[in-house]
Amino acid sequence: MFPHFQQEREDMVRWQIEERGLHNQRLLEALRKLPRHLFVQPGDEIYAYYDEPIPIGFHQTISQPYITALMTSLAALEGKETVLEVGTGSGYQAALLGMLSNRVISMERIPELAERARKIVDEVGIKNVEIIIGDGTGGYPPEAPYQAILVTAAAPSVPQVLLDQLTDGGRLIIPTGTRSLQQLQVWQRRGSHFDSEDILPVVFVPLLGQYGWKER
Ligand code: SAM
Repeated sequence: MFPHFQQEREDMVRWQIEERGLHNQRLLEALRKLPRHLFVQPGDEIYAYYDEPIPIGFHQTISQPYITALMTSLAALEGKETVLEVGTGSGYQAALLGMLSNRVISMERIPELAERARKIVDEVGIKNVEIIIGDGTGGYPPEAPYQAILVTAAAPSVPQVLLDQLTDGGRLIIPTGTRSLQQLQVWQRRGSHFDSEDILPVVFVPLLGQYGWKER
């Protein structure tokens, strides 16, 4: 259905994703199908499958393909979940989550990015993703609890309010640390306890808002 850049997508999956140890077949299939070049700014299509983040305007980025795939893989989706994403950006991660779960709520604080992401998600025919404009640091209580929450911007620490919106067994994937370097972490709810694991060092743009960094 989206034949353009098919070879680039195959190469991305083979060399950036599988080669780094991600082998979930549903995830790899979704990455092979989703036309990433539609989510970048017009004129940047040829860079869309590069092994790096790309600017999307408003000082924001579409994350590196591997990091998007890794965070998705850490969410361990089977198809029935309701997922919250904080940081819609281009909409690519939200669309990928939509292909692998039942329903996605994705929050973005920059209205222009949210509108653009809505249009692209619609264009690629993904119907189960709702993009909400606003500060997502406090989550989105009307649709909670979530089996998975992905925060795709760097938080100073883990907002308890997000942990509280997980189902029992639910997972929060979030980069936390300083503004310049973070640790990607997975938090899992077990009753009233939360286990956490450090995955790898990462660099994300800051999560700005009530339970994130203050704007400066
Ligand atoms: N997931 C995105 C994608 O697939 O393109 C990449 C996200 S980009 C690295 C981080 C995004 O988080 C930016 O678009 C930024 O505006 C957004 N953001 C930062 N703080 C936020 C907040 N408090 N609530 C919602 N979005 C936020």
